[in-house]
Formats: sequence, structure tokens, C-alpha cells
Amino acid sequence: MSTLKLTHNIPTKLVFGCGELKRLATEPMPGHKAMIVISSGNSMKKHGYLDKVVKLLIENGGTESVVFDKIQPNPTKRHVMEAAEICKKEKCDFIIGLGGGSSIDSAKSIAIMANNEGDYWDYIPSGTGKGMAIKNKALPIIAIPTTAGTGTEADPWTVITNEETNEKIGFGNNDTFPVLSIVDPELMTSIPPHLTAYQGFDAFFHAAEGYIANCATPISDLYALESIRLLYKYLPAAVNNGNDLKARSKVALASMLAGMVESTSSCTSEHSLEHAMSAYYPSLPHGAGLIAISLAYFGTFKNDCMKRFMKMAETMTEKKSARPSDFLEALETMQKQCNVNDIKLSDYGITPEDFNKMKENARMTMGGLFACDPRPITGEEIMDIFRKSYK
Ligand SMILES: [Zn+2]
Repeated sequence: MSTLKLTHNIPTKLVFGCGELKRLATEPMPGHKAMIVISSGNSMKKHGYLDKVVKLLIENGGTESVVFDKIQPNPTKRHVMEAAEICKKEKCDFIIGLGGGSSIDSAKSIAIMANNEGDYWDYIPSGTGKGMAIKNKALPIIAIPTTAGTGTEADPWTVITNEETNEKIGFGNNDTFPVLSIVDPELMTSIPPHLTAYQGFDAFFHAAEGYIANCATPISDLYALESIRLLYKYLPAAVNNGNDLKARSKVALASMLAGMVESTSSCTSEHSLEHAMSAYYPSLPHGAGLIAISLAYFGTFKNDCMKRFMKMAETMTEKKSARPSDFLEALETMQKQCNVNDIKLSDYGITPEDFNKMKENARMTMGGLFACDPRPITGEEIMDIFRKSYK
């Protein structure tokens, strides 16, 4: 009998709590001049978060900053390269990602390119990436999420789209773990209901995929089940009343825990399939794409990890489960409670003619996650997932 072996490595200082953004003024900074990376929308300015961050940095030993404000919801390689150039010119020595996953992921990729030569895709190990070794360590990264979903504050992963090749690929190494993440749920009250739901479900799938992944460990299971429990209980409340700080706080904690699942287990091919969908159709929010295919995706594996499905169902409903489909029913209930049970992929431009190329793209760009599925999934099963999910 083989005994358990595992490695637990999350080298990020996590600071969590309402009002904790103020800790940016007192925590040790990893440099003297930050590049603050935000989205191209105006929410970070409108809500005053950017001003606050700049002011807290000055309070913290006169730390200087410059702002890069062009990041799009599906962040692109072009903006990573543009920001990295500015970073070099301005001599920034650390990067702050402020906002949703797209801003924080971009901050990680910019941190790599600010310290390395060539093109970002030179270092991407799959798809058309050249898979070159990264010579120099990424600049230190601080993550300040204003959404709850990606978990990027507690994992090394960054997902960037190459618009020239329609590839959306996750990447990261030990240096792209943030050195400090400040998770302040008070920054999350302004997110509209539908985005709260999409992002919350993204976190849910990081946890649920990480729980059925064949590389799950007893430690990732702890993070995953607690994340699943919190999201089932509190996500509908956060969706239906954005000012419910208790619900926001629980959802933010669940998202951070799900990030820790991504660091200790892995997402599975549900994420590969979704990346292919939003690589071709960037207006499709990541969480919405996941929700749309989730019942069909998890349904594919319901007889392969029956105990794990029942354990997730019991964690969600707090009732004894006798069949794996209880999990699928609980998932559907949660989607109804969050008003996201009727996502139409056709609304985003996807047609059935796209299914085959999305299948191929998923395998080519994010093939690694297929190896984490509970068992190998066939091409026909993938086509079936798209067919069943399509409206
Ligand atoms: Zn995700």
C-alpha cells in the first residue's frame, strides 16, 4: 500500500477582512515604486479605490506609483507587453493588481515581462507558445481583489489571451504567487448581481473541479469543501443584496479558499473548455461560460467519483445523500437561486458549428487540465457537453 505524499506551497501573505485595505499603509512593501494595474473601465476611479491605494502607498514610506489602466475583461498579451515596457521605462520595482481577476492576472504577467526579454508568448508552454525558460524572477506582486471569484490572490496563475491566435492560456510559476494579497470585502459591494453570480460560480468550480481532480489531496479537500459550503449558503444572498456585507465576506473567503485549491489541487478540463469558448467569444464572461456547461460537464463524471459527488451534495444541502446526482440537483438549485440557470451561449455568438473547433482549441491550449479529470474524457463526450449546454 502506498502512503500519502504531498507538498503544500502557498507563499503568499494573505490579509483578509472588512476595512483591511488600510494595511497597505503598514505592511512591508516589496519595492519603492509600484505600477498599479487596473481595468479600462472607470470603476476603480469612480469608487475611489485607486485614490485610496495611491494615498496608502505614499503613507507607507513615500512609496511612488504609476497607473496602467487599459486592462480588458479578457486581458490580452498586447496590454501585458505595453505595460511591461512602461514598467521598465518608469523603473517600477513591484506591481499591484487592483480590481478583478483580469487586472491581477495581468499584473502577474507584466511582472514577468518587466524583468525578461522578448515576447510573453515565448514563455508560454502550450499552444503556439515557445515554452522558453523564464530567465529572471518576476517582479514582486501585490494583489488587491475587488471581486470574489478568480482566487488569483491565493494562486500563481495568470490567464492571458493572445488575440492573434485565439488562445487563452493559464500560466504561472512560484514567483507569480503574490507576495501580499489584501482581500477586503468592503471593496466588493458595488459589483452588480449578475457579475457577483458569474464570479462566485467561477470560485465554486475552482473548488468543485479541484475536489474531483485526480490530484486532489487531503489538504486541498479541506479548502474545497469549505469553499463549496460557503458559496452554496451565501452566494445567493450576495447576489440578491450586494450590500449584505456578511454574505460578501463569506463569498470573498470562499473565493480565496478556492484559490488555495487551485494552488494545491488543480482545475479540470471544464476550465479548458471554457477558455476555448471565451477565447473565440471574448464577450462571454468566464463564469457565465462555466455555468453554461457545468451540469453537462459534471454529469459526465457522475459515475466515476460517486462518493465525492455525494460528499459535495451533503456539504451543500446539509442532508444525507444517497446518489451522485444529488450534487447536480444542488448545483441546479444554486444556479436558480442566483438567477443564472438560463444562460444562452447563442447570445454571445456561439453556434453549433463552433463546437469542434472549441474542442480542438481546448485540447491544444489547455491540454494539461484534461490529465486532471477523474478519468480521460473522449472527444465525443466533449461534443456532447457542448450540445447539451447549448441554447
Ligand atoms: Zn476560473
